[in-house]
Amino acid sequence: MILSDLHMHSTYSLDGNNTIADLCEQAIRLGLTHIAVTDHVEWPPNGAHQRPDYDRYFAEIRQCQARFAPRGLTLLSGLELGNPHEHRADVDALLASYDFDVVVGSLHWLAGQNIHDTRCFGDQDPYEIYARYFGQLAQIAATVDCDIIAHFDRIFWPGTSRFGPPQIERIETPVRDAMRALAEHGRVLELNTRFLTHEPGWNDTLLTVLRWYGEAGGQFVAVNSDTHRAAEIGRHRAIGQEIVEAAGCTPYVWQATAALT
Ligand SMILES: [Zn+2]
Ligand SMILES: [Zn+2]
Repeated sequence: MILSDLHMHSTYSLDGNNTIADLCEQAIRLGLTHIAVTDHVEWPPNGAHQRPDYDRYFAEIRQCQARFAPRGLTLLSGLELGNPHEHRADVDALLASYDFDVVVGSLHWLAGQNIHDTRCFGDQDPYEIYARYFGQLAQIAATVDCDIIAHFDRIFWPGTSRFGPPQIERIETPVRDAMRALAEHGRVLELNTRFLTHEPGWNDTLLTVLRWYGEAGGQFVAVNSDTHRAAEIGRHRAIGQEIVEAAGCTPYVWQATAALT
């Protein structure tokens, strides 16, 4: 049974709804043993750089660690870096300034477009956009010092709404290249559980990509909720576990000195 959730957002993210303490309480209620609060660090193309006030964040993390450890919860610090490969100097300075336990790397922007939005495809062939997306994931894995690569299927969230579930074999080469980059650089692949019950779904695609990750030498998969509300912590983790095991991968368990190879 998966007892960790290493990607979630508190009120230190613009889109987070609950305090770190609220997240801890809910994690304990669910019997989780490890959580990481990984608030957003973003460099929006036309906006101001967004990041938590880390002095306050770490003070609160330390307080909650002391408060919840006696109840069996290991609370980890962390962050989710959006498009970190495009902001290497800032990222390196930030990671050198604070001692984060869990560094999550994500792609949220593609050619200046927010991929949250189905309009990010414009009139282009979605499979070209998908291929470009996985090319960028490979770059993050190869160049940014992160532990976990988040929501590799994020481009399929808007893509499925607009074009139906993806035919993954049409982008087999770029997806396999990205999985090889993760495996070679010791990055953990995240299986994001947010849309595991979505209709129409793409769980068969998730299973195929996890198999390719395994064939590329990857082993560990972090089953994470990416929740922005306490009530969503650990959501669909049983389905996530089934997919990870069906692919022959191993659910990732965080260790203080993570040795992945
Ligand atoms: Zn994200
Ligand atoms: Zn997130």
